[in-house]
Amino acid sequence: MAPKKKSAKSKSPGKGESETFTKLEDLSKLSEKELNERARKFSKQYCVTDGDKFQLRKYRTDPDVDLGPEDKPLMKQMLQLGVEELASLQDKMYAQDKWSLLLIFQAMDAAGKDGAIKHVMSGVNPQGCQVTAFKVPSSEELDHDYLWRCQKNLPERGRIGIFNRSYYEDVLVVRVHESILQVSKLPEKFMTPDIWKKRFKEIRNYEKYLYRNGTKIVKFFLNVSNKEQKKRFIERIDNPEKNWKFSTADVKERGYWSDYMKAYEDMIRNTSTREASWYVVPADNKSYARIVIISAIINAMTELGLEYPVVGKEKIAELKAARQILMDEK
Ligand code: AMP
Ligand code: MG
Repeated sequence: MAPKKKSAKSKSPGKGESETFTKLEDLSKLSEKELNERARKFSKQYCVTDGDKFQLRKYRTDPDVDLGPEDKPLMKQMLQLGVEELASLQDKMYAQDKWSLLLIFQAMDAAGKDGAIKHVMSGVNPQGCQVTAFKVPSSEELDHDYLWRCQKNLPERGRIGIFNRSYYEDVLVVRVHESILQVSKLPEKFMTPDIWKKRFKEIRNYEKYLYRNGTKIVKFFLNVSNKEQKKRFIERIDNPEKNWKFSTADVKERGYWSDYMKAYEDMIRNTSTREASWYVVPADNKSYARIVIISAIINAMTELGLEYPVVGKEKIAELKAARQILMDEK
């Protein structure tokens, strides 16, 4: 799942003691343990560990690795290895029935959230997985606090839940367009200038609470460049099969780019915790972004110590007896 390490020198700042990978390598001969270790080291460079000092401009939108056309099959292979490992980890998580995993995806339009979700989860048993997309809140949703609709859609134990957007919209789009807040049903006395600071605290506490109750959260910001977004919008306009993905409102929203970047930066600064890390994923290359994402998910799951439940003596005796009954059938 991870390219080959070349030097310890970090091309992208803000990556602490983590290693930078500068070349892709065939990983098909590695053992499961070695692959997981690769995934850990590789994803670490995109994990925000020190939120206080976080500066978005120090994170790249394009891959650290110099990619050529010859790297395509290798990237495909890496994603496939990752998908297989994820399926195996999910199977254990489902059987163990203790932990749940919540993956949160946030990004500007056309950054590749939908495609990443589709490809990364392609090998996962649909029974153990649920995706929820959060749009402009409905009137029912507006009749509740901003965490309510997310709380309702949290994954059960043993399952993976994916949030395509989330409660983070309430410190992003709602912050960029404060008019949304003004027309919400929140009592005016709480619409104070420090509302975002308070929401960050509420979110930190909420995520800590979820973790302590068995939900591991991993958060992805797909960091696409302004230039790449423009290119993808034009593709959506020019390609009839992609027309459905395009909305004129997206172009209007693009006009608020720098406000959004400030809101994202402040959000990551204030909500990067040990319990629920943010990964800033370079998203200008879709295949590379997917490898980063799957590596981070594998890393998070291996840290949970997932194992199939141990079958006790009593259960073994029960299985034996059941086998005998089946064998005795005429
Ligand atoms: P899409 O994901 O492209 O279908 O778009 C969903 C839209 O819903 C985006 O423009 C989001 O910004 C918007 N949205 C999601 N959550 C909220 C919210 N809490 N308040 C206002 N708009 C939201
Ligand atoms: Mg959209």
